[in-house]
Amino acid sequence: MNVKHIFIMSAFALTLGCSSAQQKSYGSFSDYPVYQDKWEEMVYNPASTVFSLWAPTAQEVRVLLYEQGEGGSAYKMLTMTPDKDGMWKVEEKGDLKGKFYTFNIKIDDIWQGDTPGVMAKAVGVNGDRAAIIDLKSTDPVGWEADKRPPLKSFSDIIIYEMHHRDFSIDTISGIKHRGKFLALTEDSTTTFLGEKTGIDHLKELGVTHVHLLPSFDFSSVDETKLDKPQYNWGYDPKNYNVPEGSYSTDPYKPDVRIREFKQMVMALHKAGIRVIMDVVYNHTAVTEGSNFERTVPGYFYRHDKEGKFANASACGNETASERPMMRKFMIESVCYWAKEYHIDGFRFDLMGIHDIETMNAIRQALDKIDPTIYMYGEGWAAGAPQLPEEKLAMKNNTYKMPGVAAFSDEFRDSLRGPFGNDARGAFVIGRPGHEAGIKFGLVGGVMHPQINNSPKHKVPKIWAESPNQFISYVSCHDDLCLVDRLKTTLPGASVQELMALQKLAETAVFTSQGVPFIYAGDEILRDKKGVHNSYNSSDSINAIDWRYKTQYKEVFDYVKGLIAMRKAHPAFRMGNAELISKHLEFIDVPASNVVAFRLKGNPCGDSWVNTIVVLNARTEPVKVDVPEGKYWIACRDGKIDLVMGLGVVMGNQLTVSPRSAMIVHQ
Ligand code: CA
Repeated sequence: MNVKHIFIMSAFALTLGCSSAQQKSYGSFSDYPVYQDKWEEMVYNPASTVFSLWAPTAQEVRVLLYEQGEGGSAYKMLTMTPDKDGMWKVEEKGDLKGKFYTFNIKIDDIWQGDTPGVMAKAVGVNGDRAAIIDLKSTDPVGWEADKRPPLKSFSDIIIYEMHHRDFSIDTISGIKHRGKFLALTEDSTTTFLGEKTGIDHLKELGVTHVHLLPSFDFSSVDETKLDKPQYNWGYDPKNYNVPEGSYSTDPYKPDVRIREFKQMVMALHKAGIRVIMDVVYNHTAVTEGSNFERTVPGYFYRHDKEGKFANASACGNETASERPMMRKFMIESVCYWAKEYHIDGFRFDLMGIHDIETMNAIRQALDKIDPTIYMYGEGWAAGAPQLPEEKLAMKNNTYKMPGVAAFSDEFRDSLRGPFGNDARGAFVIGRPGHEAGIKFGLVGGVMHPQINNSPKHKVPKIWAESPNQFISYVSCHDDLCLVDRLKTTLPGASVQELMALQKLAETAVFTSQGVPFIYAGDEILRDKKGVHNSYNSSDSINAIDWRYKTQYKEVFDYVKGLIAMRKAHPAFRMGNAELISKHLEFIDVPASNVVAFRLKGNPCGDSWVNTIVVLNARTEPVKVDVPEGKYWIACRDGKIDLVMGLGVVMGNQLTVSPRSAMIVHQ
């Protein structure tokens, strides 16, 4: 302890009129001090490093310095001193680059255990110790010139949801850094049959955004045992502000995962693709012993009436976004990823656990960085959160969160069947009664004169004010992927039938006015061998088999065609509820399991006029009456051709083949 240090300690003791070892206690969490400045725990300079920790209830706080990211004992211990608003601080002279550190906090005379803190920006293997690095040195060559690809409107977005390992672990992918961040930096990769894989596959498909499953540091994969295959989706957060080590080529070197993550973002940006992070602020992997709990016990989590940890996440705890420092944590964390890693969008896991005020505050903070950064989430929770419904970022409150979107389970379930019953199908396999839900999805969930008061079927409640707040999808990483669902709901279906229904379902998604979202591999009939919850299944279940791209080439070509059509024709993405009401008109059809609509005129200056889309899920052809005229056919019988077209139809009737979509225009 140096002389200056002793002086500060004495001055503090005098101010408070008590010993520095005395612990602060507060009546309730709302009495805890709120730190106002930028929340940082380690600021490195070659001359000295400043450590800070927000720990308002601590008696004492220590920093332990280590030579390595794991093993061995601390070579030095620093004693922190209380600073303003619950923050503790200590400065250590000398160049500490390359060292590691943890904090240890004493509360009620008990040391809480080592933690890298809650705001660590770099860590050693498995994220147990934070690392002292110079962040600037992690920037890859060309990083300063990296730019977000242009995005005029949220309605232009096409999301592709991907897990790193699923996407590239198969040796057939021809990718060198299989299952790693760097896999998404390799171009010109192909299967042995010559089909494009990796980033070239994404470019070929035409998606605008890649949504990466959790890529921050999570607990479940042991980063010291990467010689053995391990798999997890990663919804078990450990360090929120550091990339996951198992996706890097060297989890022991703290700068490597950071640099490689940035290389991945830069390569995707160069390919014209924006990057979305899946963020999981609603719970932590462990409760007792988590970084939050070891720093400020109780504060970051909600508790039930009995004082136990509440569990709306069904993962053991739920965080308390309504508390000022948890809200600040989420805002600063999201902004950090947007600024330091150039992230272009955030998907909030179990967003319904968070409060509306926090989500709106994040939107405002991101708007200051770049208003084209997209935000969406799951507008539900796994149990009832400890906050009144009207305060929660639940789907039904989406209209209170402009610029924030939610997944439409109504559209998904109307297409393929309910979440809770894998054996029950819906519209796509020919089960009647889901037409209203399909129409609700096609208009992007907004008010529409033809579906608000349908006498025939129960129409889902309106919750989106803009179609840009509505994520249209039929499958995602959760539960059965689409083809597995089709197999369980239509036992004995032939491959031809499965391909036809997959195409039909994707046609609904990509002609919806909501923001379309596709699960990686669905475009090549990817399956998961019928596994409902594959969060920790082996690669044999989860890996995308790239041979399917050859085998089911016609499905790939079709989805690629749908995406190209949507991009070329703004009538499919009007992005505005009034325009949709004005131009999108449903056509009366005589049968169940058929939905048809017309995009009157040429909305948004579209080159196509009076486009008509018919979705026929019946096992027989259907005739649909349309206004008399000459129509060019863009899609029919499971084929799309935007260049030459598929012929012309004259008259006032369209005949649509079984289990297929037809798209025509004037
Ligand atoms: Ca990890």
